[in-house]
Amino acid sequence: MLKTILNECIIALSIKNETPFLIKSGMERVEDPDMFPIKTFRNGREEVFIPGSSLKGIIRSHAEKITRTLSQGKKPACCNPFEKNKDKPDFACSSYFEEYKNKKNIKKLNGTEAYKQSCLICRLFGSTENASRLIVRDVHLKAGCNVKFETRSGVGIDRFTGGAASGALFSLEVATNAEFEAQMYIRNIELWQLGLLAYVFKDFEDGIISIGYGKSRGLGKFIGKIDKVEIRYFVKCSPSPPNIWGIRKMVQKNEYDFYEEENKDFEVKGVSNLIPDEFGFRQTYVFEGNSQLRYLWNTVAPIWNQRVDDYESRRENLK
Ligand SMILES: [Zn+2]
Repeated sequence: MLKTILNECIIALSIKNETPFLIKSGMERVEDPDMFPIKTFRNGREEVFIPGSSLKGIIRSHAEKITRTLSQGKKPACCNPFEKNKDKPDFACSSYFEEYKNKKNIKKLNGTEAYKQSCLICRLFGSTENASRLIVRDVHLKAGCNVKFETRSGVGIDRFTGGAASGALFSLEVATNAEFEAQMYIRNIELWQLGLLAYVFKDFEDGIISIGYGKSRGLGKFIGKIDKVEIRYFVKCSPSPPNIWGIRKMVQKNEYDFYEEENKDFEVKGVSNLIPDEFGFRQTYVFEGNSQLRYLWNTVAPIWNQRVDDYESRRENLK
């Protein structure tokens, strides 16, 4: 990806559990229940947390569902990471790249080609050939949050008989009363990517995203709310309020196949002014509170819809 950072986006998301949850630890300890939450040592005590990679995985798989729904009846704008059949339209990008490298007899794709030939989801979340643009940090509890734990018992089900499997009683420790603060970061953002995330965040707000073990038994329902979105630019290459720019507007040559429709200003109604940093290098738009965030989503969500409609695969024909 570009060697320079032309714009950056930082997103703060609060999430709290609606039903008890269990984000499993892989470790085993003799005195523990069979399954217990993953914890880390922080602020002088052991605390539950959500690994950034777990939250990113949940956001990705939800974004895939949204993309598949919007692409119905058209070329899918999102691959299926498990699809190994190259004749299928959603053939996995990672498998396609393997074929591509074999065919061209190269060891590694350059970033430009990898981005250009990726589906929309792999352009944001990465694949084996290109790094993810979205970075999700480990998600920790809000200060003062007092998590409660309870132990439950479960019964393993025999796959063949559908009855209880012999010796299948197990115990699990679940957590509740948790409120987390998540932070996400995207560099060199295309505006449609923020539009796609707006859809995911709406579903977080509506409480339809679950995290962790036991979704079918009602565990892990969370409600999320975006607290703040910041979009940052260098002072020398910055839009004038009330406009925002995606990366396409900031590069001369479009080698990466950035979305051409973004080569213009996008007005965000009611936008705050750009706030300069103390060194005068960079300046930032800050979107906070319901109305400012709604204006931002109203600007970027339609770009995402349009992006899916206009999607054309840039994969080379390898036959
Ligand atoms: Zn893909």
